[in-house]
Amino acid sequence: MSDLTAAGFGDQIAERISAELVPISVRWLDQLRGLLTVEANEVFPTEQLLDHIPALIQDVAEYIRSPETEAVAANTSITAKARELGQLRHTQRASVHQLLAEYRLLGNILTSFVKEELERIGIGPSASDAIEVLRRLNDAVWILMQTTVDTFVSEYTATIDSHAARLESFNAMVSHELRQPLGTLMYALPLLKAEANRSDMARHDHFLRVMERNVVRLTQLIEQLEGLSRLQTSRRDAPDVQRTDVASVVWEVARQLREMADARGVEIQVGDGMPSLVIDMARLELILMNLISNAIKYCDPAKPDRFVRIESVSAERDDHVGIMVRDNGIGIPQANLSTVFRRFVRAHASRDSELGVRGSGLGLAIAAECAEAVGGSIRVESNVGEGTSFLVTVPRDAGHVGGTDGSP
Ligand code: ADP
Repeated sequence: MSDLTAAGFGDQIAERISAELVPISVRWLDQLRGLLTVEANEVFPTEQLLDHIPALIQDVAEYIRSPETEAVAANTSITAKARELGQLRHTQRASVHQLLAEYRLLGNILTSFVKEELERIGIGPSASDAIEVLRRLNDAVWILMQTTVDTFVSEYTATIDSHAARLESFNAMVSHELRQPLGTLMYALPLLKAEANRSDMARHDHFLRVMERNVVRLTQLIEQLEGLSRLQTSRRDAPDVQRTDVASVVWEVARQLREMADARGVEIQVGDGMPSLVIDMARLELILMNLISNAIKYCDPAKPDRFVRIESVSAERDDHVGIMVRDNGIGIPQANLSTVFRRFVRAHASRDSELGVRGSGLGLAIAAECAEAVGGSIRVESNVGEGTSFLVTVPRDAGHVGGTDGSP
């Protein structure tokens, strides 16, 4: 009957797989589409899908052809592709379950292909030789799967570690920030009680004012923390993405801040030609609200004409737009520029009473998180005494830049 050895049959199958790379890839893709939560075209990042999958399957064929000369794990191109897939599927928030199912499909398709080939050629190898070829095939798919899953899991572990570290430092900062006004209240309350028994109205009023200031501060802090947690919850839910005229959002923010701007003598100027975007409008509003209110808060009382100007500027990428929020306020010292987006960082805390401002150091952190959540970013430039510019860069169309939210 058959004079095909395992090696001969292996060569033949490897050749047939090589000849049928595209049809096999298409078969896998067709079946994958049923499993994927993302567009099939986003599965592989660097090349077109149909250029990439055949290369992966070709590597499986090579291993079937010559398993004794090269272990599949040592084949760097095959494991590099598998690792790339693990990283990509992590950013696409796939699950291990999905990955296993994808590889199971590939294994099934290749096994069916071998079976079809056996039927097609009529005469075949001995059962043990056929089993040997299938074993090599399963080996190759298994190693690929293991590499992809290992990469995927280590990406998750790194994300979880960094989240845990961030959470820990956030908790420490929150406790510190809450303890400060609470401590003052605990200190002022007995003094107020004692004063009530004497009748020094001036001291009595002083303690009341101290307590009021600290209660207001605590309330603001809690409101901003609530805002942050709402932001994080809504990141997990579907964001409210819609076509939005930036000009109308800016004018709405300006309307809400009018009183504050008038009180500080700051003119809100809005440039022409604001773009129209497909974006999560609530987040865009929150970004602008924080930046414009800061520009008003940190205006320079020494300048007769105080302004904040919001205008459209070009972005580095064609599919993004820039929105500049520029003021002629007191500016931010160079030494603080790299940290102002961190939570609870305040560059002018010592000047609060002179400037008549209060703050928690959360506004810019919230703005930066919002920008990141919509697939954009914020940069700052500033000169003390001259003013500050925040450049917000966001995608024109959130629906066409992949995920708008990279966090797990
Ligand atoms: P805050 O609640 O203190 O205003 P933010 O996070 O909004 O907190 O801002 C962080 C710090 O950055 C502020 O405390 C202030 O020192 C500085 N800052 C932010 N915006 C401006 C601005 N437009 N001009 C000058 N300083 C600013």
